[in-house]
Amino acid sequence: MSTDTPRGPLRQNYWPTTAGAAAAFHRLDADIDCDYAVIGAGIMGLNSALALRENGASVTVLEAEHPATAASGRNGGLVVPSLPRVGPADVMRVLGDDYGPRLVRLVADGAQAVFDLIARHDMKCDAVQGGWINPAHAGELVDGLKARVDAWSRAGSRARWMDRAQACERIGSAWFHGALYDESGGHLNPFAYTQELARTASAKGARIHIDSPVLRIDAASGRYLLRTPTGTVRATTILQCTNAAPSGRRALAPAVARSVVPLTVFQLATSIVPQAARRAMLKGNEALSDTRNNLFALRFTVDGRIVTGGMAPLTQWMAEPRLLRSLARRMERIFPQLGEVRFDFIWRGGAALTPDFLPRLFEVGPNWYAPIGCNGRGIAMTTTLGQRIADYTVDRDASRLPVPLMSAAPIKAHAVARYAPQLLLPVGMIQDAMRR
Ligand SMILES: Cc1cc2nc3c(=O)[nH]c(=O)nc-3n(C[C@H](O)[C@H](O)[C@H](O)COP(=O)(O)OP(=O)(O)OC[C@H]3O[C@@H](n4cnc5c(N)ncnc54)[C@H](O)[C@@H]3O)c2cc1C
Repeated sequence: MSTDTPRGPLRQNYWPTTAGAAAAFHRLDADIDCDYAVIGAGIMGLNSALALRENGASVTVLEAEHPATAASGRNGGLVVPSLPRVGPADVMRVLGDDYGPRLVRLVADGAQAVFDLIARHDMKCDAVQGGWINPAHAGELVDGLKARVDAWSRAGSRARWMDRAQACERIGSAWFHGALYDESGGHLNPFAYTQELARTASAKGARIHIDSPVLRIDAASGRYLLRTPTGTVRATTILQCTNAAPSGRRALAPAVARSVVPLTVFQLATSIVPQAARRAMLKGNEALSDTRNNLFALRFTVDGRIVTGGMAPLTQWMAEPRLLRSLARRMERIFPQLGEVRFDFIWRGGAALTPDFLPRLFEVGPNWYAPIGCNGRGIAMTTTLGQRIADYTVDRDASRLPVPLMSAAPIKAHAVARYAPQLLLPVGMIQDAMRR
């Protein structure tokens, strides 16, 4: 599918173009019985299914479309050992001495856990553990970022400070003032990673059904009956891993849907960058995201493109042409060696934000769990949280859960609050521009 834009015809989602062939899955066309029903074949659902199989449970994954159809196959692929906006002290304040250290540790080790999993199962997803670089875009942010480095390294992460000269040399841009650098981070092809998770879970014995949206769930005699258009699954435990339910699909647990803010994020892939310019940028093939409210993130792909992204301020109206112009200008300013930036791909995906940017483990009913780990930086979090909630349902050992189980907590005035990130973005952009 192509979209006409001022810079020429563009294609959607770049990632499938360099991913391998998907394993073949089929629609559910029977009535089956199993221990676990996992709803959603994104990173969270598939990691849960894999962990359940490693625990010997019988598990069926029901996916409305196909693995990687949603955020998991449409994101930027930056594997980041950190939380968006919040640091270890915020986590401790919100979660206390019991859960706080566990979540901090899970985050600090999260990127390494992803790369270890990929290596363990030989997943073909162009994974590059080149480190994560988080540069300060303004001098006044340097002290705060250094404090963040201290806090994360005290918490056990591999974060360290890179001074201005080192950071600019490594990044290939004079725009930055020093950086947090963590060698455990990196990037991957998220579409391929999700497909490989599906292949691995299936090889371990998980049943995966595509084109099988769960339309309704009924409780019956201590078990659940999940109905899809062409079959049913009877299960004792449900792991609902549906993230931000796609618009147009009825939420299976409305209170969970109202506990997160859905957010549309755009991703763009440039045309192939000439070797000379490429050699002078991100010299260790790092993943980069900076300190702006209007986040600047980028990484190279296996075929030498740059993937970057952003949100459309205020409204989705004409979002693509607006972002094509503004993101090209931004890249040309920060990396003049690129010359005129041209994009070949633009696509969008749906993220889910929690009000404090921390993950959640919602308990919808007895043995019905809905983990949320997205917050726009969820590759590592959904990988590890999916494994933890799966393990918990098997051994009931809550001492390894990084956040408490809780009932869904709908956000007040959700119908309005859901537009807050988009409406407040211009304020953040002004703040970004005023920082020196
Ligand atoms: C554009 C974008 C860029 C991002 N960039 C990054 C990044 O660079 N780094 C990073 O760490 N994170 C990033 N994220 C966040 C990351 O993509 C998510 O945290 C992660 O993919 C969420 O995985 P998930 O499995 O929870 O959800 P999803 O991938 O959204 O999967 C949910 C699945 O549930 C299915 N489903 C929904 N309802 C039903 C139903 N009723 N029946 C059956 N199936 C159903 C959907 O079809 C979908 O496949 C980004 C997100 C977006 C949108």
